[in-house]
Amino acid sequence: VIIGAGPAGLVLGNVLRRAGIGSVILERSSREHIESRGRAGLIDHHTVQYLAEQGLADGLLTRGARHDSCEFRFGGNRFSVPYGKLTDGCAHQVYPQQFLVADLIESYLDGGGTIHFETPATAITGLDGRPVVDSGAGAITCDFVAGCDGFHGLSRSAIPADKIRVYERAHEFGWLAILAEAPPSTTEIIYALHPDGFAGHMLRTATVSRYYLQCPVADDPANWPDELIWSELHRRLATNDGWRLNEGPITEKAVLEMRSWVTEPMRYGNLFLLGDAAHIITPAGAKGMNLAIADARVLASALRSHYEQRDDQGLRDYSATCLERVWRAQEFSHWMLHLLHRPQVPTAEQEFLHRLQLARLTELAAGTEFAVGFAHNYVGAR
Ligand SMILES: Cc1cc2nc3c(=O)[nH]c(=O)nc-3n(C[C@H](O)[C@H](O)[C@H](O)COP(=O)(O)OP(=O)(O)OC[C@H]3O[C@@H](n4cnc5c(N)ncnc54)[C@H](O)[C@@H]3O)c2cc1C
Repeated sequence: VIIGAGPAGLVLGNVLRRAGIGSVILERSSREHIESRGRAGLIDHHTVQYLAEQGLADGLLTRGARHDSCEFRFGGNRFSVPYGKLTDGCAHQVYPQQFLVADLIESYLDGGGTIHFETPATAITGLDGRPVVDSGAGAITCDFVAGCDGFHGLSRSAIPADKIRVYERAHEFGWLAILAEAPPSTTEIIYALHPDGFAGHMLRTATVSRYYLQCPVADDPANWPDELIWSELHRRLATNDGWRLNEGPITEKAVLEMRSWVTEPMRYGNLFLLGDAAHIITPAGAKGMNLAIADARVLASALRSHYEQRDDQGLRDYSATCLERVWRAQEFSHWMLHLLHRPQVPTAEQEFLHRLQLARLTELAAGTEFAVGFAHNYVGAR
């Protein structure tokens, strides 16, 4: 039983189905809701390669856009980091998460898979043997449960508190996340470091763009009328060379918590946790969806070994294998967060930390080995 039809659950279901391993997916929300829920958009090199190998990348390769450089701004200046060149040709694919989710649902259903929409899992029992998952679809007995139900899901709570350890860090600022019907004003993602806080311009489609503004923790989106959002974006993204920002109707604004959070281990008995159910990463570095799909890849491979070769080593190693990648991504995201944000510390210390930020940006601009390391992490080439 797979609980949750997000990227983790759907990739797992599709890969297992192609290998002839049966599964059923329970999803709390409606199909319409999850196919229109705008979230991630930057798909790492490794993720694209894996989805292509599994025959799941047709949509993202035809309708998505390849990106292999990004831009940094500070003090009115800007420079690009050509991370594709620095990694010998690796690239992101920009493709909205809801499009990928829709593609994965279609592929799973076309192949004969079953998804019960609007059917939340309500209890998971029997994890030491044959687990039973309760939901509106009845009680389902299965070999394994894949908990792919996100941070607020049920799966994690089925694990006794003394069998799990949580590592977490709440950061001292938030992001106002904005979605607008505005054509992109750039061909590269922009990260701007400004004395009043970070601003980002992300790419989604030819007519829709996403932006981020550093804001206080738990700020209220109501404090951000549209005019203020646009004036802050203009100010924080401004350059000395006449660059212009396109505007358009704002369709969504939300304040994101900057939270780093990891559960160890990611398995209890025959329950495996995947994606946001096991770890939350800040959006800096754009790794959340990629980690979710990486977990699905590891579990799918372990389950194939279990059913096809009666070899359970992959299942035993599942948690450690995933956690190695998770912590590497956490470190990168943390580093990026502190590269780009105005630190919430006393002014004198702020000046010092700002000088460190400028030193890092100078290294990135110079294309040194430091920039090569950044490029590999950023594009997901390792
Ligand atoms: C604004 C924003 C921007 C982001 N940008 C990026 C980015 O650029 N790149 C990136 O890699 N990541 C990004 N992320 C993170 C990314 O969206 C998540 O990490 C990703 O969705 C995790 O996938 P998942 O499958 O683990 O969980 P989810 O996508 O959260 O899916 C979990 C599913 O489980 C369902 N569910 C919950 N409880 C139950 C239950 N009891 N029974 C049945 N179903 C249940 C939910 O309805 C949901 O559909 C962003 C996130 C946000 C919010």
